[in-house]
Amino acid sequence: MLKHWKELLIGGGIALLGFLAYIGYNVMPVLIVIAIGSLLLFAVKSRGHLATAGGDRHGQGRVAQQLSFDEIGGQERAKSELIEALDFIVKPEEIARFGIRPLKGILLTGPPGTGKTLLAKAAARYTDSIYVAASGSEFVEMYVGVGAGRIRDLFKSARQKAAKAGKNSAVVFIDEIDVIGGKRDGGQHREYDQTLNQLLTEMDGIHTSESPRILIMAATNRKEMLDPALLRPGRFDRHIGVELPDKKGREHILGIHARNKPLHADVELSRVAEESFGFSGAQLESVMNEAAIYAMREEEQEISHRHLSSAIDKVMMGEKTDREATREERERVAIHELGHAITAELVRPGSVSTVALSPRGQALGYVRHQPQQDQYLYTAEFLEGQIMIALSGAAAEEIFYGSRSTGSRGDFDQAMNIVRTMVESGLTELGIVDRSMMTPDSWAKISSTMLDKLMQQTKQLLLGHRQLFLRALDILLTEENLSGDRFRELMREEPVSA
Ligand code: ATP
Repeated sequence: MLKHWKELLIGGGIALLGFLAYIGYNVMPVLIVIAIGSLLLFAVKSRGHLATAGGDRHGQGRVAQQLSFDEIGGQERAKSELIEALDFIVKPEEIARFGIRPLKGILLTGPPGTGKTLLAKAAARYTDSIYVAASGSEFVEMYVGVGAGRIRDLFKSARQKAAKAGKNSAVVFIDEIDVIGGKRDGGQHREYDQTLNQLLTEMDGIHTSESPRILIMAATNRKEMLDPALLRPGRFDRHIGVELPDKKGREHILGIHARNKPLHADVELSRVAEESFGFSGAQLESVMNEAAIYAMREEEQEISHRHLSSAIDKVMMGEKTDREATREERERVAIHELGHAITAELVRPGSVSTVALSPRGQALGYVRHQPQQDQYLYTAEFLEGQIMIALSGAAAEEIFYGSRSTGSRGDFDQAMNIVRTMVESGLTELGIVDRSMMTPDSWAKISSTMLDKLMQQTKQLLLGHRQLFLRALDILLTEENLSGDRFRELMREEPVSA
């Protein structure tokens, strides 16, 4: 009977209101009060629901759905290093038998979007731990002591949540640890120092016998900024590099994100992986997602290779814009891009994937290159070729218009960066030099010597291809796009100039 007290109360209330109305009382004000009360109750309840789903803020951390190592593509080395480290937690008896100091902290370092958060989540699942996450920026406060308090709350909440869920361990993941873990200067940033000190104190308080056991994982892409106290043995003493995926890794990641998507028979993920050189896991996920959006917008049943190709362009260069360029501007941009494309094909045959004359992001046109294979070491000859490809847009403009435009700014930055790499690697006529020995003057001198020489060579290379420029220009102006294969066909058909 007591179980149904709510229903009885509501039924009795309705009966009473009915009776009062029957004997002539005005029950309207009571009904309005009940309506407002119910609305307020509903609003409070739904906020409560949101807070539980999205995670509680400020130091309490977010508890997320767990995922397994199988859902992380590439990163085989990072995964196996991590699993090896986690086995210390999975096999506590062996740890105790050998008297091994417990592993307290694992630091994941690498570029953004490579899967560091995913690895932390998978680590929690592998060790059957509760997962609690927070970002370094959540601990940043103007007031001294607040950040430190939030660190305390984070660890307390991890322990409580693990105990409540009946787990023996908890993984506390702190993303962007560099925000609170930067080198302490003991002066201006007292608040940051206190937050970091609190984190160190919490780490020192972790013991093997403790239950639930806490494992701290943190991620950063600026390891060199971290305070040495964080990196010393007994703190974050396992460092795992999570790098950009290679071709095989990219294909694996694309495969993972294609699992729930209908792909057309013309899609070869290995080709997409080849075209998305230098992409992170997050960018590859975005490629798959954008391709699906393109296919849906075109009311297709499946995602085709061209959708994926446009998605790569979008992720690399930004969304297509409707910037209206004049005919002269379009022509100049086309000549500039064709300069890049022709040089690229001459220096590295087969490397052009698309030449496009459609505005995307900041660019009015672009050439997408397709690296034949991932490469980690570069020779001086290779790098000079890259500089020539970068300079060739400006070189083409000079050949056809006798002048350059502002369109080459980014190209020159790229060329200068390569010169810097060459100087620092001892690949120039300066021989092996220490960066600190280089004055601004010596930088300017070596850059202009190298860039002038390569600009002349590029112009020489392009001068014999006027016919090709003009034919490809016509196509680009009408069709806006030239695939790499079609472009190579045009090159083969070009009459040999005298
Ligand atoms: P940040 O340094 O910016 O915090 P991160 O390295 O922690 O980035 P994640 O948050 O783990 O990156 O990845 C973001 C998203 O990118 C993931 O949700 C996933 O969709 C995708 N992703 C990244 N790396 C991989 C991978 N190796 N395998 C599968 N998906 C990945």
